[in-house]
Amino acid sequence: MAGKTKVGVLALQGAVREHMQIMEQLGVEPIAVKTKEQLEGISGLIIPGGESTAIGKLLRQYDLRGPILDLHAEGKPIMGTCAGLILIAKHIQENDEAHLPLLDVTVQRNAFGRQVDSFEADLPIKGVAEDFQAVFIRAPLITRVGEEVEVLSTVRDQVVAVKQNNLLGISFHPELTEDTRFHAYFLHMVQDKIEKQP
Ligand code: GLN
Repeated sequence: MAGKTKVGVLALQGAVREHMQIMEQLGVEPIAVKTKEQLEGISGLIIPGGESTAIGKLLRQYDLRGPILDLHAEGKPIMGTCAGLILIAKHIQENDEAHLPLLDVTVQRNAFGRQVDSFEADLPIKGVAEDFQAVFIRAPLITRVGEEVEVLSTVRDQVVAVKQNNLLGISFHPELTEDTRFHAYFLHMVQDKIEKQP
């Protein structure tokens, strides 16, 4: 097969460039996705952190919801970080409407409270690292996980990273450190899927 693997980064709002840089570093061609045409030909999608309400609105405005749900139905891996996790969650606490109801979890936005708006923690993450420096910024918590969902990491006994088949959801920002191991883990999922294609 010709050409590099292409991974999309949803580029409506938020920490887009940092994810694109890490993808480049890992030898993948990053595609900034703003239109449904740009979803064609990508093998996986990253939904970055930012402001989930704003990204959700733009998703609808740009008619990207259906095409992203189709991408998932084709088995292409999707990773949501921070606001991205909120966007792919099936349920959002306090009656916010779900955006892309894919990952069988309930999330609570801004769950760590004002006093601890932002913090860092060295976390063991199953299959990824023993000591991943996780940066939390007005982060959501995962307050319920469905039966099919595997917990990859917790902080203060709260779930902050999960996997469900081809979906990864994490509360923190793996793109804000030099550590590329979380993205490499996601890329394995992407490559795995490409290899299994008929
Ligand atoms: N608090 C934001 C939200 O609810 C998420 C913060 C982030 O992505 N850093 O959408």
